[in-house]
Amino acid sequence: MTMDVMTKKEVLGVYQPGSAHMVGDGFPVRNLFPSNELDREVDPFLMLDYAGPRHFPPTEHPRGVGEHPHRGFETVTIMYEGAVAHRDSAGNAGVIGPGDVQWMTAASGVVHEEMHEAQWARQGGTFRAIQLWVNLPQAHKMSAPAYQTLVNDAIPAIDLEGGSGRLRVIAGTFRGRKGPARTCTPVELYDLQLQAGARFELTLPEGHNTSVFVLEGRVSVNSAVAGEAELVVSKGQGSLVSLEANDHSRLLIMSGKPINEPIARYGPFVMNTKAELVQAVEDYQRGRMGHLSSPDAE
Ligand code: MN
Repeated sequence: MTMDVMTKKEVLGVYQPGSAHMVGDGFPVRNLFPSNELDREVDPFLMLDYAGPRHFPPTEHPRGVGEHPHRGFETVTIMYEGAVAHRDSAGNAGVIGPGDVQWMTAASGVVHEEMHEAQWARQGGTFRAIQLWVNLPQAHKMSAPAYQTLVNDAIPAIDLEGGSGRLRVIAGTFRGRKGPARTCTPVELYDLQLQAGARFELTLPEGHNTSVFVLEGRVSVNSAVAGEAELVVSKGQGSLVSLEANDHSRLLIMSGKPINEPIARYGPFVMNTKAELVQAVEDYQRGRMGHLSSPDAE
């Protein structure tokens, strides 16, 4: 009997959204984790919200979520439809639209707002995005905040064999193509589209926790079948992920080396200890994470 050199990553489970709620008044999200009691299994990822797809009528008053803080991790916003305008207390601002990704490193703390972009809001339309939180190791939780706008054109897109699909490398590498995101720990983040009937095998680093989120279609992931808004979580062991698309599918593949440190969470703060959370709340309340300047003052 022979053993495959590459072993498949064993599927832990297929998860449906564990909760649904509005973030501010602009982001109707379905949460995949930390609901579903997924925690260590998805380390280094902390949260996955799928916003929309939802139609918003035209308005002169852009919806969204106003000034709020983050500390200890990164927020990654992947746009599919619509446009988001962001600005933060570190002085960064930007607009992302379909195909763009915003990678914000909150680290020691920022205050920011995330709104539907004004011109898009005026026209209205379908909004769809993912927000993923990526943890930082203790050594970087109190580093200076950073901000990366990864525009569509800067994200390598690789056409798969025989027109069977297309993979965009947001972070990590695929077939020697490197994604533009600078990450603190090893992370692979791929936006993948597969045609109906396509089969595709992907090799990811041994030991990385790998999840596949289905935005559209229906796929089997190492023989576990998942449909719209479902998440397939695999164990770290093994390296092979074998995908088969029943329908035209759009997937987000998230994989990363587990940080394996204690996690203490309180709302928008994710640290290693309760004492650090208490400190984070105090620092925010005392204005040590800064404030947004008034838009009129710019
Ligand atoms: Mn935020």
